[in-house]
Amino acid sequence: MTSARRKAYLEAMQIDTWRRRGSPAPAPAPSTVTVPAQSAPGEAQTADWAGLERLVVECRRCALCETRRHTVFGVGDRRANWFVVGEAPGADEDRQGEPFVGRAGQLLNAMLRAIGLPRDQVFIANVLKCRPPNNRDPLAREAAACLPYLERQLALVAPRLVLVVGRIAAQNLLATDAPLAQLRGRVHRRGGAGPPIVVTYHPAYLLRTPSDKRKAWEDLKFAREVAGRG
Ligand code: SF4
Repeated sequence: MTSARRKAYLEAMQIDTWRRRGSPAPAPAPSTVTVPAQSAPGEAQTADWAGLERLVVECRRCALCETRRHTVFGVGDRRANWFVVGEAPGADEDRQGEPFVGRAGQLLNAMLRAIGLPRDQVFIANVLKCRPPNNRDPLAREAAACLPYLERQLALVAPRLVLVVGRIAAQNLLATDAPLAQLRGRVHRRGGAGPPIVVTYHPAYLLRTPSDKRKAWEDLKFAREVAGRG
């Protein structure tokens, strides 16, 4: 990507593209944290893509099946190097059956393009496949019920890097209560053998708190560096 295009995308993220001379960008600490992986039970554990999609569409493992319009399975390149994990569908996603549409989705697209990744070259999915009413946080039992689908998606895609956006997704995927500030800037692995996982802010948060876009950009550069290690 040319520097002019990258500058254009950074501006799309509304990130200042200048930096005071002599003040290098802070580099996240490249430490590695291993968390236990949970195994996907039952049919999901061995399903192929078609079988997994059918399981999700028909799923009634938690009460969110009662209020959803559409399940939101995930979208993108099923052989992608990058797998983006979000929290749960919102109203637009529930209506369209696709993750990260609307303003937050547009910002995610800009963030990905800024590091040279068009949306159709990554795979994007949420921890929850159904929308929690009124966009409330997922309950622990809902996340536990739904996580096997994401785990199978991760196994099928076998990405080089997992980028987790937002505290809720990170805490559920990494089985931790740690705040986002502690999860950013390091490499996590589930089960010690899975792909490296890097955590950053959710684009919806960045829309509310644009002053943190610069830190998100540092996370993206860190993720790109981690993905390139393999
Ligand atoms: S949120 Fe997940 S576990 Fe709950 S009904 Fe939807 S697909 Fe099933």
